[in-house]
Amino acid sequence: MALRPDEFYDHARSAADDETRLPLARMTGWSISPFEPDGLRVSPLRPPVLPERPRHGEDPSDCASCRERGEGIWFNDNWRLTRIPGVGVPLVLMLHPIEHHDMDDLPDELAAELGVLSAHLVRHVQALPHISRAHVYRIGDGGAHLHIWFFARPEGQAQLYGSWLPVWDDLLPEYPAKVAEADAALVVDALIDSAGGRRSAADVSAQG
Ligand SMILES: [Zn+2]
Repeated sequence: MALRPDEFYDHARSAADDETRLPLARMTGWSISPFEPDGLRVSPLRPPVLPERPRHGEDPSDCASCRERGEGIWFNDNWRLTRIPGVGVPLVLMLHPIEHHDMDDLPDELAAELGVLSAHLVRHVQALPHISRAHVYRIGDGGAHLHIWFFARPEGQAQLYGSWLPVWDDLLPEYPAKVAEADAALVVDALIDSAGGRRSAADVSAQG
């Protein structure tokens, strides 16, 4: 069984100083760290808070993702894809189930489809010129409605490797929106070819 919240806090504090500051992360010693260790200070570790604050959209009637089910750049009957604007890396896409599910209550049929769509999205993002890798993240601490992140890592920018990428993304200036939009359109074209779906929420194929 995992440590209780108070046990976990005591365990963590045993490595901290008098102000409950832990030593600097080993990651700050990596050559790809966006921060130099000199002058950096770790925030004091706060005690656990119980119960945890509810996430956005725990109640489906107050869930932005459910309200925005018509918004996106690609749709099929179960999923929609959006492009996140204002980011620093070349492209950030997000895949959402249309109905209100989190990952732990995703029906098997949708979970299987998520696997296939994730593999196709990674393939199509990585096929873009000057993109080396598509990182895939599911975090789920902020929003209750499942959302999977796809981060495109720019070719050759070797410090942007690995788990620091979302931090570098926050440091970088905003990537040119027109370029990201055009690349997202290429990914959507490839996804329609490989996995079906359509560019708008309404099924216009039935009319044509
Ligand atoms: Zn929802």
